[in-house]
Amino acid sequence: MTPTVAGALAEARRRGVDRLDVQLLLSALLGRPRAWLIAHDDTPLDAAQVARLQAAFDARLDGVPLAYLTGEQVFCGLTLAVGPGVLVPRPETEGLVEWVRSCLHDRADAAVADLGTGSGAIALAIKATCPAARVTAVERSPQALAIARDNGRRLQLDVDWRHGDWWQPLVGQQFDVVVANPPYVADGDPHLVALHHEPASALVAGADGLDDLRDIVATAPAHLRPGGWLLLEHGHDQGAATRGLLAAAGFVCVCTRPDLAGLDRCSGGQMPELGVETA
Ligand code: GLN
Repeated sequence: MTPTVAGALAEARRRGVDRLDVQLLLSALLGRPRAWLIAHDDTPLDAAQVARLQAAFDARLDGVPLAYLTGEQVFCGLTLAVGPGVLVPRPETEGLVEWVRSCLHDRADAAVADLGTGSGAIALAIKATCPAARVTAVERSPQALAIARDNGRRLQLDVDWRHGDWWQPLVGQQFDVVVANPPYVADGDPHLVALHHEPASALVAGADGLDDLRDIVATAPAHLRPGGWLLLEHGHDQGAATRGLLAAAGFVCVCTRPDLAGLDRCSGGQMPELGVETA
C-alpha cells in the first residue's frame, strides 16, 4: 500500500472495505474531519499508521464493528466511547429515547430508569435532553458499567449507575418511566453470525428471544408509579408478543412504535392512574 491517505483509500477499495468505513478509520487515526482527508489525500502515513490501518481493514473484513475500531459511536448527538464488551448503540434505539422524552413532557424532574444500559447510551441521551430528570441506569456487566460511567463522567451527565440484574438493584424504588433495550434475539438466529463480535449476553434471550422481555415486564408493575410508563425495544417480529406481555401484566395504553425503517421496534404501556378502573 502506498503510504498516503490516497494509498490507504485505494488499498481499502481493492480489499473490499467499505469506502465510508475507511474514511472514518482514517479520520479517527489522523484526528481530522472526513472533509480534510479529501483535500489532503497526499498526506504521508508512517509505518505505525499503515500497520494500524491494515489491522483495522482485516478486523473490519472479519465483521468487527467499525465503532470498536474507532472507539466511539454517536448516539442522539452524544459521542460515546464503546468497545468490545458493550453493544454498539444502534440508530433505531434513538426512537426509544424520543418516546421517553414525550412521556416526560409534563414532569421534567421525573424519575427514569434504564435497565441494561450497556455503554450508557439511553440513560445519557435522556439526561442530556431532560437535565432535570433523575436518571438511574442498571447494568449487570461490570465491564460495560465501567464504560458507561466513564461516558457519563466525560460528558458531565449525572446518572446514578447501579450494578445488577434488571430490577435487582432497584428494590423498593419506583419510577415514572422505565426504559430498556434488552437482549431480544432468539438463540440460534442466523442474524447472530454477523453480530459475533458483540457480547452475546447483550443480544441473545432464549429460544424465542423473549426471556428478558418477559422478566422485565413481569416485575415492572412493582417499580412504576401510577401512570408510569414502561418502554421496551424488541425485534421487528416481537411487537404482538411484547404487547401481549404488557397487557397481561396490567398495563394500559399498550402500543407499538415503528423505527425509521418502518419495522415494529418498540412497545410500551402505562400503569393505570390511581382511581381509574380498567376492565
Ligand atoms: N438491534 C440489535 C440487532 O439485532 C439487537 C439488540 C438487542 O438485542 N437488544 O442488531
